[in-house]
Amino acid sequence: AQERYTSIREKPATSLDGQTIALTMNAGLMADLPSLDSSGAEGVGLFRTELQFLVRNQMPRRSELSALYARVLDAAQGKRVVFRTLDIGSDKVLPYMKPNDEPNPALGWRAIRVGLDKPGIMRMQLQALLRAANGRPLTVMFPFVAQFEEYRAARVEMDKALARERALGHALPSSLEIGAMLETPSLAFAPDKFFDEVDFLSIGGNDLKQFFFAADRENERVRRRYDTLNVSFLTFLEGIVKRCDASGTALSFCGEDAGRPVEAVCLAAIGLRSLSMRPASIGPVKSLLRRVDLEAVKALIEAAAQEGQQSVRPAVVEYLRNLN
Ligand code: PEP
Ligand code: MG
Repeated sequence: AQERYTSIREKPATSLDGQTIALTMNAGLMADLPSLDSSGAEGVGLFRTELQFLVRNQMPRRSELSALYARVLDAAQGKRVVFRTLDIGSDKVLPYMKPNDEPNPALGWRAIRVGLDKPGIMRMQLQALLRAANGRPLTVMFPFVAQFEEYRAARVEMDKALARERALGHALPSSLEIGAMLETPSLAFAPDKFFDEVDFLSIGGNDLKQFFFAADRENERVRRRYDTLNVSFLTFLEGIVKRCDASGTALSFCGEDAGRPVEAVCLAAIGLRSLSMRPASIGPVKSLLRRVDLEAVKALIEAAAQEGQQSVRPAVVEYLRNLN
């Protein structure tokens, strides 16, 4: 299927009205890396490090992790890789960790909450990442940050890891970006200072949507009940774009919706300039982005909001049907 899109593989995702969207890919295993070239992705916008922890039956050692991350960076050949620190809990349970008996795991002890409460694993992982970079640029992102203080605390851990590496005489990364995932509505309302301090933000749309509509992403009964193109949700996302624009914070979107062409077009229309998706989606998304006028789509979204429509999907699908 990828072959259909080889003719545009090296071309940018530029819309008819001249807006260019960066398309990156989601990955999590070494086996995903060859797709960087074949898909035409500009980099890895989300590397889910928990997959390496989930495929084993014991906690990986720091040396193993750092060798693995180094191989990921080698394979990326200078393209940016956004390493997301361990995102466990909720639907991702490590077989070798005592399971928590939580009534609401999605709202429970997960991701950065585990990382900050039990910093041993996070410290080991940060050290492994720094060592893997070994003088190269490094980008790290913390999952499920719900308030400014959690980001600050995670940064303190990174500072400690850097100090340790320096004391050991190891090479530090040539540049270091530290971002957060915006997956809880609370973070969209964090103080301005948070937006100033964070190096970049990535919207985790799968979780953000689940919490916005209070609808379990794993529950077939409610999962599809609320449309991503629901005007309320798009308005909410646009507010995040505006805050990031105002503070000059780089913003991307890395949930599954980024890889759905109609959704991707709407995300671009409300101002997202970077989308990360599974590699196979890059061709179809790019192909459509190159054929649309994002200003026109934006006008459709605004009109739908004005008219009190629930979702902009019917109007956008109609617009797309009329493209030649
Ligand atoms: C998300 O929540 O949108 C996301 C990208 O993270 P995950 O799907 O791994 O929770
Ligand atoms: Mg998530």
